[in-house]
Formats: sequence, C-alpha cells, structure tokens
Amino acid sequence: MIKLEKVSKTYFTDKVQTLALKDIDLHVQKSEFVCIMGPSGCGKSTLLNIIGLLDRPGAGEIHVGGKAVQSYKDKHVARLRNDTFGFIFQSFHLINDLRVIDNVELPLLYRSMSGSERRERARAALEKVGLGARMEHYPNQLSGGQQQRVAIARAMVGQPDVLLADEPTGNLDSKMGAEVMDILLKLNEEGTTVVMVTHDEKEASRAHRIVRVFDGQLVA
Ligand code: ADP
Ligand code: ADP
Repeated sequence: MIKLEKVSKTYFTDKVQTLALKDIDLHVQKSEFVCIMGPSGCGKSTLLNIIGLLDRPGAGEIHVGGKAVQSYKDKHVARLRNDTFGFIFQSFHLINDLRVIDNVELPLLYRSMSGSERRERARAALEKVGLGARMEHYPNQLSGGQQQRVAIARAMVGQPDVLLADEPTGNLDSKMGAEVMDILLKLNEEGTTVVMVTHDEKEASRAHRIVRVFDGQLVA
C-alpha cells in the first residue's frame, strides 16, 4: 500500500538545518496496522506527513498504492492524497462554529454529490463511531473522546484506504483513549490500513507491528 525507499528530509529555517529523517525504508501492507514510536523530536510527525503526501521528502522514493509519487505534479499529488488518506491529530482539529454533522461533511464538499447524499454519508460515518445521537451538537459540547470520534468520522467519510493518526489519544484519559483505539482497530479489521504515532506501549502492542524511530532513522 505504501512504500518508502531511502527517504530523507531536511528542514531549512534561517541558518538552522535539521535532518529530520535519514534513509527511511518502510513498507506498509494493505490492511496492516502499524504504530510509529520514538522520543519527542525524532521525526515521527515528519514521517507521517511524508507518508500522507502532506510534505515532500528531500530525497528518496514514495509509492502509494503502486503509484510512484515523485513523478506526480502537485495537483495530482493532492488528488491522490484526498483519495487515499484520512488524517486524525492529537488536537482533533474540529471547527467549533460548525455542528458535528457539518464538520463530518466538510471533506465531501469538493466531491460531486448531492447535499442529501453528503448528509447521508456523514450520518453513517457518525453512527459508525457511536455518535449518531450527537449530530446536532457543537464540538465543544462533547467530551474529548467524543470529539476525537467525530474527527475519525470526518477522516473516514470519504472512504480512504489509509487512516493516518498522529498521537490520536495523546490528549485523552486512558478510558477515552481505549475507546478511540477500539474504533481504530475495528476500522482496521474492516480493511482500512492504519498508521499511527503513539507514545503508549500498551496501545502499540495492539497493532500488527511497531516501527521505532530514533534521531530520524528507523531502529527497529
Ligand atoms: P516528532 O513528531 O517525533 O516529535 P517531528 O517530526 O515533529 O518529530 O520533528 C523532527 C525534527 O524536525 C525536530 O527536530 C523538529 O524540531 C524538526 N522540525 C519538524 N518540523 C519542522 C519544520 N516545519 N521546520 C523546521 N524544523 C522542523
Ligand atoms: P508532536 O506533538 O507531534 O511532537 P510538535 O508539537 O512537535 O508535534 O509539532 C507540531 C507541528 O509543528 C508539526 O506539524 C511540525 O511539523 C511543526 N514543527 C515542529 N517542530 C518545528 C520547528 N522546529 N519549526 C517549525 N515547525 C515545527
């Protein structure tokens, strides 16, 4: 599903250069659940952003679903990204002025489908994460765990092949974190590939595989 070969990334800011990733080789199979672990600043978010085509590597090759991304123009990368990936983040990134159902519909707005179909898909995505009864609420009327489940519904509403999650339970207590983890595992069992950054060994032990990063390199 995803293949990185000799991927490196250097950030240039003012006079400082940071080698964030060095010679990363990583294959993620379809329907795999992979956790990325490592200390703060080791390059986990950079790796996830590169996998998700949010950022381009400085060197190396990426294949997504068999397609060689480096030959793609930005416009086509954006389309491949939107068709392939859903994203969730530690801080939910919901829009507080929009109701839950409208947040979940957002990724469908640029697709050619009727308003009623959009609404129906968003409703189904929310029911899947157990929030069918919260559609008319605003995000800040929900618990952190519920807000993250809304974010999962929004990430999944376009039926991506791969869900990328950057510390999705990092702001949640252990009970809410476990609920979010249960949903990610269920989506994975149904066929969605999941790549998740976490600091929690217990969570990571539920994945198929743990990839460990240290100073921008894969160490295990
Ligand atoms: P992690 O997610 O493991 O905490 P990051 O991928 O966020 O690590 O960061 C890896 C390294 O790259 C860190 O030294 C960080 O400060 C640096 N870095 C990350 N993003 C940027 C950026 N946009 N510009 C400059 N440096 C960055
Ligand atoms: P995380 O919780 O994953 O460690 P961070 O707080 O390190 O996230 O980074 C949040 C965002 O800021 C990331 O998207 C990263 O690319 C960016 N970032 C991290 N370090 C730097 C930096 N030194 N300069 C600019 N942007 C950075």
